[in-house]
Amino acid sequence: MTAWTNWAGTERAQPRRTVVARSTDDVVAAVRAGVADGLRVKPLGAGHSFTGAAVTDGVHLDLTGLTGLVAVDQGSGVVTVRGGTRLHDLNPALLRHGLALPNLGDIDQQSITGAIATGTHGTGARLGGLATQVLALRIVLADGIVADCSATERPRLFEAARVGLGALGVVTELTLQCVPSFVLHAQERPEPLDQVLEALDHEAESNDHFEFFWFPRTDRVLAKRNNRVPEGTPLRPLPGWRARLDDELLANTVFEWTNRIATARPSLVPRLNAIASRALSAREFTDTAYKVFVTPRRVVFRECEYAVPREALRPVLAALRDWTELHDEPLPFPVEVRFAASDDVWLSTGYERDNAYVAVHQYHRLPHEPFFAAFEAIVAAHAGRPHWGKLHSLGAERLRELYPRFDEFVAVRHEVDPGRTFGNAYLERVLGS
Ligand SMILES: Cc1cc2nc3c(=O)[nH]c(=O)nc-3n(C[C@H](O)[C@H](O)[C@H](O)COP(=O)(O)OP(=O)(O)OC[C@H]3O[C@@H](n4cnc5c(N)ncnc54)[C@H](O)[C@@H]3O)c2cc1C
Repeated sequence: MTAWTNWAGTERAQPRRTVVARSTDDVVAAVRAGVADGLRVKPLGAGHSFTGAAVTDGVHLDLTGLTGLVAVDQGSGVVTVRGGTRLHDLNPALLRHGLALPNLGDIDQQSITGAIATGTHGTGARLGGLATQVLALRIVLADGIVADCSATERPRLFEAARVGLGALGVVTELTLQCVPSFVLHAQERPEPLDQVLEALDHEAESNDHFEFFWFPRTDRVLAKRNNRVPEGTPLRPLPGWRARLDDELLANTVFEWTNRIATARPSLVPRLNAIASRALSAREFTDTAYKVFVTPRRVVFRECEYAVPREALRPVLAALRDWTELHDEPLPFPVEVRFAASDDVWLSTGYERDNAYVAVHQYHRLPHEPFFAAFEAIVAAHAGRPHWGKLHSLGAERLRELYPRFDEFVAVRHEVDPGRTFGNAYLERVLGS
């Protein structure tokens, strides 16, 4: 038995066995053996979900050997990648072929399949989440059959499996639509919250990737605008010392100490936030896209994130602001606001809706429950859809109301996994059984 814990330390598992799979055949063998032994099976990504999505008491499938590119068509940008590949390996591998994913989230630690299975997204009002890049999937089902699916081949399985929550089978290969590699001009600077809220729609629409971080109990945000530059524009990356100062020293080392101080002296948090929101200095640089998107995150936190319709963002933030003013809750982490375009992926938070994403965080040594519960109550009034990989309290009953294709997803699951080989407690809660 190999004990397992997720990155945030919110979930633990004591699987009966952990099997390392290096090929689709290995996965088939592991699934068949698990079923024969009456065990449930769960593939592992990088353990970066805050929820129990990857927990099992049966067989944990370690896919760290099932990695790398299988096929690349540089002309069309279509690539096939093995399911266990981590984003930090995939991004440079794509670049070597002159390709890139059009958008990414904050970090690159996840496996491509784990990220897609839970609806991982970045920011960009004209761009969908990572799942919108999926053209085809190879998936090992509970009966040990290897199924290939796409918009034309087993389309219902494909629609369900794009954001599949790990509920349908083990994805061993993914075919993705990539774009030519590109360079981003990054502008980051502190700004007044009201000014940003005033220009929200314009900012979201006129920047390729716009987001901001608001520090509770302050009226300041750190706004980030990343925009594509014409091909051939010379790179002007941050000097090494500045990147280390900002990303390592300030964002990780100093931030860890700020959080420890906040834990010991919660009353200091408003002052710490005021300092942080003003200490962050403006910076501007031009670099390969994935290097701009991704930041190392070593300070351990808990997170809850909801997608709300774009027009709900202002009332949601106003209510959050009121709550933080009224309650003396120590909140040293900023609230993150991002944008994404609507899509057609059944269980994607972006299903047929342009969204703003609001993410609340809490340092792991401080209680997150009061703030997260208040946040969930606020977004509930705006048809908020929770990120499948982040902490939330919703169950199947409510999720069915939020996702028009929920029952079709459940029907596909009944067909391909009637015995719940890939089930676990998280799926029982969010899918109903
Ligand atoms: C520090 C941090 C920053 C983050 N930033 C962002 C962000 O910017 N944007 C965002 O949207 N999210 C973000 N997340 C959330 C994260 O992207 C998701 O939780 C994602 O699922 C993590 O991927 P993983 O590889 O760690 O998957 P895991 O958490 O290991 O697994 C997630 C699910 O995928 C399933 N799975 C894994 N591999 C397979 C497979 N081969 N076949 C079928 N199912 C599989 C697992 O069984 C599980 O159900 C962040 C999380 C952290 C901790």
